[in-house]
Amino acid sequence: MRVLFATSEVFPLIKTGGLADVSGSLPTALQNLGVDIRILMPGYPAVLNKLTNLQAIATFDNLPVIHNAALMMGTIAETQVKVMVIKSAHLYEREGGPYADANGLEWLDNPVRFGILSKVAAILSGPNSPITDWQPDIVHCNDWQTGLTPAYMKLVEHSQAKSIISLHNMAFQGCYAPGWLSTLALPSTNFTIEGFEYHGQLSFLKAGIFYANAVTTVSPSYAKEIQTAAFGFGLEGLLSKRGNEIKGILNGIETDEWNPEADPHLVKNYSATTLAGKKLVKAALQEKLGLHIDASAPLLGVVSRLTHQKGLDMLVPILQKLVDAGCQLALLGSGESALENAFRTLAVSNPTKVNVTIGYNEPLSHQIMAGCDMFIMPSRFEPCGLNQLYGLAYGTPPIVNATGGLADSVVDTNIITFKNKTANGFVMSEASPTSLLSCIKQALNVFNNDANAWKQIQKNGMTQNLSWDKSALEYLAVYQTLNKSA
Ligand code: ADP
Repeated sequence: MRVLFATSEVFPLIKTGGLADVSGSLPTALQNLGVDIRILMPGYPAVLNKLTNLQAIATFDNLPVIHNAALMMGTIAETQVKVMVIKSAHLYEREGGPYADANGLEWLDNPVRFGILSKVAAILSGPNSPITDWQPDIVHCNDWQTGLTPAYMKLVEHSQAKSIISLHNMAFQGCYAPGWLSTLALPSTNFTIEGFEYHGQLSFLKAGIFYANAVTTVSPSYAKEIQTAAFGFGLEGLLSKRGNEIKGILNGIETDEWNPEADPHLVKNYSATTLAGKKLVKAALQEKLGLHIDASAPLLGVVSRLTHQKGLDMLVPILQKLVDAGCQLALLGSGESALENAFRTLAVSNPTKVNVTIGYNEPLSHQIMAGCDMFIMPSRFEPCGLNQLYGLAYGTPPIVNATGGLADSVVDTNIITFKNKTANGFVMSEASPTSLLSCIKQALNVFNNDANAWKQIQKNGMTQNLSWDKSALEYLAVYQTLNKSA
């Protein structure tokens, strides 16, 4: 089976969030299952620099707006997965992030940048492909950046391949003024409710959901939630029409990257049977961050985008109470400046108890995950979430809100779940500061008073199979069903 995996970010080439982690891991796991898979992505400078054996393999000379572009192919050294990149200096080779400039302002030509990504994926799957020796059976699209692909495949390229779109976050939809329709050479007859029109705008994500042969999302709970007004971001009607067809497949974690037994960022490696090593990592983290070195002080960890979705504003009003009760906090993240400043202020008033690092820092994210005692993730919505899975793997029980992938992966500790050894964290009863406080207090009660019970909860999480292998088999089953369908 040949699969073209179209995406805008792939770890370790370029990453802004969980989509990159999935796009790095899932193709590797599928390749290990025997799937002939190639990634397609934009040729951002970092991607061109990091791929090995990069060579031009084809050219396109009839694209909207830019007309010409080259297609290059290289491999990711770490995984040997093949990556095709669209080489267009005009579209992708600029300083700044994949979606926005250094000041956080969205690139104004994003409709073209991701319209071309979508278009090229569709061309490669159809009769006009410049590549004759490799045609995909399946085109796997991801999020709005590749949302137009299923529309181009069906309406323009008349591709025989089957399309699937995976929804990693409904909050980002790629909605643009209707003028882009002709620029991107999309048929205006399909600019209707039964097409890619969304409240008078061209919606990339809606196009994907409407025209794809299959829709998946990244957890069973999120698959249900997005069919409701609270989580569907306006597309709940369309999604509920597809209803039971929408399959939720929980993400795995990259166990080569996130494994406390082999993590090169830690002063000491450890496992479920050598948990003493985690204490050394905690002390090293406290020292590095200027926190009081104290093994008994419960150290709370946060690694996150600081946005409304992640719910960390709920931690602000209760943090001083927690510090007064003996807790410490190590926070790494960036995002809304009001939230960044609120945490900075708390760090200034509690210098040896609260450390706040604003920015993006891969090694520190591993050290926080390993060195902390609990991981705080009170997201208001969370399609899957990876950090709580890392917390489970690192013996850092997650404290989460009951939503999406958090609800599907974290089992609240109570008498029953403790007895049957499924308890692996603590789950809030609702998204509020009061509920977050009482949930953390429940965790503190076990942490402070019952070391054996705490160890058991840590072990329950650490011994779970969180790898991609299981999820990859579920995606393979979706591909196989599509391949068999008419
Ligand atoms: P989302 O994709 O919504 O941001 P996820 O939990 O699915 O959330 O994935 C976030 C990924 O980004 C994780 O791999 C996490 O470790 C990483 N991450 C987020 N913020 C930072 C940061 N400031 N520094 C390092 N890694 C970060």
